[in-house]
Amino acid sequence: MWNALVTGGAGFLGSHLSRLLLDQGHSVVVLDDLSTGSFTNLPDHPRLTKVKGDVARGWEGKVDRIYHLACPASPPKYQIDPVKTLDTNYQGTRNMLELALRSGARLLLTSTSEIYGDPQVSPQAETYWGNVNTFGPRSCYDEGKRVAESLCYAYSRYRQADVRVARIFNTYGPFMAPDDGRVVTNFISQALEGKPITIYGSGNQTRSLCYVDDLIRGLNLLMESTSPPVDAPVNLGNPNEMTIRQIAELVLELTGSNSPLIECPLPQDDPKQRCPDISRAYEWLGWRPMVSARDGIKRTCDYFEGALRLS
Ligand code: UDP
Repeated sequence: MWNALVTGGAGFLGSHLSRLLLDQGHSVVVLDDLSTGSFTNLPDHPRLTKVKGDVARGWEGKVDRIYHLACPASPPKYQIDPVKTLDTNYQGTRNMLELALRSGARLLLTSTSEIYGDPQVSPQAETYWGNVNTFGPRSCYDEGKRVAESLCYAYSRYRQADVRVARIFNTYGPFMAPDDGRVVTNFISQALEGKPITIYGSGNQTRSLCYVDDLIRGLNLLMESTSPPVDAPVNLGNPNEMTIRQIAELVLELTGSNSPLIECPLPQDDPKQRCPDISRAYEWLGWRPMVSARDGIKRTCDYFEGALRLS
C-alpha cells in the first residue's frame, strides 16, 4: 500500500482520484490551495488527510506516489491570475519533483492537450509538437504546462527522478463546479435552469469529451505501469470528436430542456479542433475509454440536477 500525495486533490479530477486510491487501500494526503477546489468534494476517511497549502510554497512529508494535479484548468479560472498560474506550474512542479527525489517517490504530472495549442494536425499524437501562442491569454496555462513537462524530463534525465506525464483532453463528470466556466458545466447548468445555451463563435469548433471514470483509471494505470518503459508523455482522452453545437444539442436532448442556443463572441486563441490519438495509451497501458458521451453526459446531468437543487 502506498502513501500517496494528490496535489489539487480537492478539485474535480483530484477528488475522484483520491476516492479511487482510498478504495484501493492506500493512504492519501490531499494538498490544495482551495482556489478552485473544495474539501466538501472529499469524504471524511481515516486514511485521508486534507491540507490547505500552495504547491508553489512546497510541502514536506514522506510519500511513495505524487499525483501532481494542482492548477486551475478552466480557461476563465486560470486567466484570473496568469502569473500565479505560471508559478503554480513552474515552482509548484519543481517543488514536487524535489519532494519526489527526497522521498524516493514516483511523480505523475497531469499535463494537458493545451500543449498542442491550436493544432494544425488531427488527431493529435504525442509526436506532434504543437502550435502554441507564447503570449496570448491562454499562454500562462499552455506554456506553464509545457515547462512543467520539461522540468519532469530534466529531473528524469539529469537527476534520475521517476516520472510519468499524462496529457489530459477535455474531461467532465460529477463534482465539477457548476460555475467552473467550461463547456459541459455551462451547457448543463444553462439547460437545467432554462437559460440560453452560450455557444462561443459558430460552434463548429470541436472537442473530444472523456468521462471522468475513464480518465482516472488511465491516470492510475499510467502511474503504476512499468513495462514497456513509460518514458514519454501519454495522451489520455476520448477520441469521439464532436462540434460544440453537437454537444449543446445532446445536452438539450438529455435534459429535455427548451433553452435556445445563442452565439457569443469566440474567446481569443480558442483551438478550432481537438482530438486525441490514443494509440500510445492503448499500446503501453492497454487503456481505452469505455463511457460514451451520451451515457457520461446523462450521469453528469443527473448529478447537476441534484447539486443545483441543494444550492
Ligand atoms: N464553449 C462554448 N460555450 C461555453 C463554454 C465553452 O461554446 O459556455 C466552447 C469554447 O469556446 C471552446 C469549447 O467550448 O471552443 C471548450 O471550452 P472549455 O472552456 O470547456 O475548454 P477548452 O477546451 O477550451 O480548454
